[in-house]
Amino acid sequence: MSSFDSWLSKRIDKTKKAGLYRTLRTMYSAPHSEMEIDWQRQTVFSSNNYLGLAGDEQLIYAAEAILHEFGVGSSGSRLTTGNTIWHKNLEKRIASFKQMEAALLFSNGYLANLAVLTSLPEQGDVFISDQLNHASIIDGCRLSKADTVVYRHIDIHDLEEKLKETKCYRRRFIVTDGVFSMDGTIAPLDKIMRLANDYHAYVIVDDAHATGVLGRNGRGTNEYFGVNPDVVIGTLSKAVGTEGGFVSGTKVLVDFLINHARPFIFQTSIPPSSCAASYVALELIERGSEKRKQLLSNVKYIKNKLENLGFTVKGDETPIIPVIIGEPDASVTFSKRLQEKGIYAPAIRPPTVPHGESRIRLTVTTEHSSTQIDHLLDSFKVIGEELKIIQVVKS
Ligand SMILES: *Cc1c(COP(=O)(O)O)cnc(C)c1O
Repeated sequence: MSSFDSWLSKRIDKTKKAGLYRTLRTMYSAPHSEMEIDWQRQTVFSSNNYLGLAGDEQLIYAAEAILHEFGVGSSGSRLTTGNTIWHKNLEKRIASFKQMEAALLFSNGYLANLAVLTSLPEQGDVFISDQLNHASIIDGCRLSKADTVVYRHIDIHDLEEKLKETKCYRRRFIVTDGVFSMDGTIAPLDKIMRLANDYHAYVIVDDAHATGVLGRNGRGTNEYFGVNPDVVIGTLSKAVGTEGGFVSGTKVLVDFLINHARPFIFQTSIPPSSCAASYVALELIERGSEKRKQLLSNVKYIKNKLENLGFTVKGDETPIIPVIIGEPDASVTFSKRLQEKGIYAPAIRPPTVPHGESRIRLTVTTEHSSTQIDHLLDSFKVIGEELKIIQVVKS
């Protein structure tokens, strides 16, 4: 082995010893509640396709029509030849969906976060960031000119403490996920907005998991709480079912980002066909309150049943249902046993979650049938008893 490879192998071995080694699985079918994973049929309880839109025929038709007209790739960055009428249409649609003045598209949510967080602050500014914020927020803060102060997860008192401690900074940006991706908790945006007002801070929300899911029309945490943060970031890759990220806010904000955000300036834009699919998805989402009700009733049902079995279940009423197992090895075994029963729900381990809180992270979609859900719950009972995660339940 070359010295290069042996150096890397040693580091991989360390990862393996810590029980944190990861491998890829291959999907051989479209994203629905049942998929061919490594040639095995599995019921999937881990996708972000909350409303089943990723495989929706109406989106496929919309994308196909534009694909024939505009081709496969966009051919340039937005500031050169990559800005089609479909990019503009979709941005207008996102702005009206989010009920903001304007919106700007990015290749994905990760880059949307990097774009905002690296371009907005100047030297002498500070981010006040929730402890469990998504990796793309953490990376954005690190790459920026601002300092970062972390507050305890959704702890409004600690946030106020941090606001008091950071009075020497020029500008302060409170930055938070709307719905936290690993804990399924909802950020208390109403309280955060009130504090921001009292302490003259700006609020940036990453609504990746709330878009399409929370609020009467699925607009996200801003609709859920009836508030207007300064910047709302989101992704089209979760409930919307397509790909792309966005930032919504004022026209001035969008104008600023077009001129200052490097991930916007130096990246080829997403294909117009994808924009067309997203456009249709947003129409369906706004009119989809029945689907959302069904989604949240699936969530309630599963959470109640798991808690009654004796599992520790985290989170608020969102489609993300983290079931705490404890040690990384036990979580991996649990996930493997689920797979043997035809259920795909990966174990989430450190560094993604804190030590001792390794978990099975379930997600529910509108495509899950009651038969699939009951099979999930039966399997959790059997495996939970077997691995002594819960006590034997006599029935
Ligand atoms: C998934 C996710 C992102 C990244 O979005 P992509 O479009 O997949 O790049 C950003 N923030 C949060 C909170 C997410 O869950």
